[in-house]
Amino acid sequence: MKILIKNGTLVTSENVLREDLCIDRGIVHSIGKSDMFIPDEIIDADGLYVFPGGVDVHTHLNLHQGLYIAADDFYSGTVAAACGGTTTIVDHMGFGPSGCSLKHQVDVYHDYADAQAVIDYSFHGVIQHVDDKILSEMASIVEEEGITSFKIYLTYDYKLDDHAVLQVMNRLRELGAVTAIHCENDGILSYFKDYYLKRNQTGPIFHAHSRPEEAEAEAVGRMIILSKLAGDAPIYVVHVSTAKAAKLIADAKRMGCNVRGETCPQYLFLDQERYNDSNHGGLKYIMSPPLRDKANQELLWTYIKSGTIDTIGTDHCPFNFHGDKQAGRNDFSKCPNGAPGIETRLPLLFSEGVMKQRISLQEFVAITSTNPAKLMGLYPKKGDIRVGSDADLTLIDPHKEITLTHDLLHEHVDYTCYEGFKLHGYPVITLSRGEIIYRNGEFTGRKGHGQFIKRKKVTDGVWGK
Ligand SMILES: [Zn+2]
Repeated sequence: MKILIKNGTLVTSENVLREDLCIDRGIVHSIGKSDMFIPDEIIDADGLYVFPGGVDVHTHLNLHQGLYIAADDFYSGTVAAACGGTTTIVDHMGFGPSGCSLKHQVDVYHDYADAQAVIDYSFHGVIQHVDDKILSEMASIVEEEGITSFKIYLTYDYKLDDHAVLQVMNRLRELGAVTAIHCENDGILSYFKDYYLKRNQTGPIFHAHSRPEEAEAEAVGRMIILSKLAGDAPIYVVHVSTAKAAKLIADAKRMGCNVRGETCPQYLFLDQERYNDSNHGGLKYIMSPPLRDKANQELLWTYIKSGTIDTIGTDHCPFNFHGDKQAGRNDFSKCPNGAPGIETRLPLLFSEGVMKQRISLQEFVAITSTNPAKLMGLYPKKGDIRVGSDADLTLIDPHKEITLTHDLLHEHVDYTCYEGFKLHGYPVITLSRGEIIYRNGEFTGRKGHGQFIKRKKVTDGVWGK
């Protein structure tokens, strides 16, 4: 199948070009002159931007969280991703049974995803405990499974202490793999949770108060120090929600530390006033870290602009409001944590970022596609428009005006956090390896089209360059 995309404006993290784009058998065949190219199909992209497909390296599909199961599986979640212009995800595997091997969850997740996903995908490994067996097993997960990043948590049931964190960071550095970290200080969280619950302060706003900004900043600062002590191990801080934590990352980068940062749309577009919404509406936004005050939002944009924040992931983790979320009605700590967002990431960042001139077209591509692809070992197969790359593309019409509503979206959950947002610009076509999988509001791809990607190590050259 040969496709010619004519008259579009191609945008990469470095260039904006008005050129034709030729695709042959799922790969970018050539850019520029197309006279000699006989296509099976022509897409007229006049007036449209042609971007590398979005790369979302923070999703939770098929997630089992205690009593609850996230509402999107690898089929519905990747359909929603595709309809929002995202063509690759790296999903954070959930915890398996206590004491299980690393391979256990890899097998479970292949069962979830392999015949279901409609876009290409990979998984982050998950580390629940550390011992000699786990440390030695890491090698085969990296080498044979092609999983080159692992998530650790500093809170929740399987939190690691500093001793274990150092073991993990050192081992993963040796293997050329990344340590991705959920940074919150567990002692601070448990202290404040008890404090508010004892005073019968149980509403959603106390979810935010019980997880103060300092809890994130302390953990980020400590992880930067541990990375240094682990021989400059590469660390990736997921979902940075505060300016305090971002500033620590900025300072560390300036000193040459091997740290990278991710934030999420919810920390840029929503603030903690949402927890006071009527009729228990605040439960929709119970996620960790929590939403912050408005001042943090503007500061996070400056950290994006300066390159401190490298990527935007979604932390897509949907639970129905008229369902699982109601468990938190009388006690915020009983509410399953997480919110949807896999479909709205690109539209929000394009409209609020590019169209409002907070970031350039190239910066938009860098934070949503190129940087996450580079940092997670997917580049240049993903994250760029260049000859030989996968023809994963999203075409955005900058003139399309849309009011976001839950009905418009394909996420398999009963609400969106962005109800009523007026957007300028919206994805109109998505291609995955040369196949049109989304067009004008309709999913046109097929179940099982997505392929698992064995990712590269991060040892060669400067990480992410
Ligand atoms: Zn997450």
